[in-house]
Amino acid sequence: MAFSQKGAIFPVKQGAQDGILDFIKQALGKDCFDAILVPAKVPGTESFTYLLIRDEALLKNAYPLPPVMSVQGAKAISSLTGRGKGKKRIAALVRPCEARATVELFKLGQVNLENIFLISIDCPGALPLAEWAKDPKKAEDAFSEVLKGGPSESIRPICQICDKFSTTGAEDLHIGILGAKAGSIFLIPHSPKGEGILDCIGISAEADISEWKSMVDKLTEMRGEKKRQAQTELAAKAVGLDKLLDTFSKCINCHNCMRVCPICYCRQCFFDSDSMKFDFEDYLKRAEMIGGLRFPPETLLFHVGRMLHMSLSCVSCGACEDACPTSIPVAQVFSLVGARNQEAFEYVPGRSLDEPLPLRVYEEEEFEEVEQSYAGVSAKREARDA
Ligand code: SF4
Ligand code: SF4
Ligand code: SF4
Repeated sequence: MAFSQKGAIFPVKQGAQDGILDFIKQALGKDCFDAILVPAKVPGTESFTYLLIRDEALLKNAYPLPPVMSVQGAKAISSLTGRGKGKKRIAALVRPCEARATVELFKLGQVNLENIFLISIDCPGALPLAEWAKDPKKAEDAFSEVLKGGPSESIRPICQICDKFSTTGAEDLHIGILGAKAGSIFLIPHSPKGEGILDCIGISAEADISEWKSMVDKLTEMRGEKKRQAQTELAAKAVGLDKLLDTFSKCINCHNCMRVCPICYCRQCFFDSDSMKFDFEDYLKRAEMIGGLRFPPETLLFHVGRMLHMSLSCVSCGACEDACPTSIPVAQVFSLVGARNQEAFEYVPGRSLDEPLPLRVYEEEEFEEVEQSYAGVSAKREARDA
């Protein structure tokens, strides 16, 4: 992480989960904000969702670090503010990939952050939704072990290689768990709104947080290495048209991956529109040309189109993979494509509210090497055809 600063040490009686709840209760009780959007267990069920809570008593259902990501937090914030800011001040407690998606949606004009206090937490990962659905109790037990620092093989593949599991600094406040001594968590403000919450609960942000920072740096490096290895292996299996076709061969074109993706920002998906519906004769002509036409058609085109639209902002949150009924590693593929495109533009989605989306900025002198290589290809082609 590039920044270094001080933070507050917040005393907690039990584990991090209870400590975060204590902090929220204090802040809500002191009117530091008017309501909170927080992951919670739906009473009487095993399900987790986001709840908008104004009544402190309802916080008993809150679950700041749920075992699964059944709703991507940025989608919840977008539903709340997509039509404009409200009059009340809402704190939103989310995982780092959800905070980063929120920042991207803000830049796309689909989230209004004026009255939102964006709060993120060091993230231990999430379990695959399908595993949790099979046996929620067993999944919760496995996740408790992960929270206690036990083996993490049960978390989703995308989380095991996540190197952005902590703050990027674009949130108002970050809750640090890593490196915290037993009985404490770190509260790290990144904006006047974050500092305001600490002032409101009467706690100073002057404590040394170097323990947290060095743990985050160490884990970031380890995960980064693991991610590079995993992406090299995936590239060998999935890059290239034939391999990509093979990777998506089980796709049933349900578009679940698009529906749950926080970054799929088009209000009307082109692939769901009438533009992608053709006449009987058109289908027949295509079937004749290629010998047989698969239905539904354009499955791979849908994925490539989606990659073109949103891979620069893909935050590798894993929601698409969780939603895939045929267990295609969608998030891992999109994360790989995203990483390559983001690197080309030196862009990190969710890093900053002020950094413009690359496709909104015109730079006269970028990608000259691509232009030159195309010029070389055209010259060779012309020489060959002459
Ligand atoms: S990708 Fe996984 S580990 Fe990374 S922030 Fe999201 S849930 Fe946490
Ligand atoms: S493509 Fe998948 S991993 Fe990337 S932001 Fe969308 S849901 Fe998350
Ligand atoms: S969720 Fe899976 S099966 Fe459905 S469209 Fe996406 S990749 Fe295909």
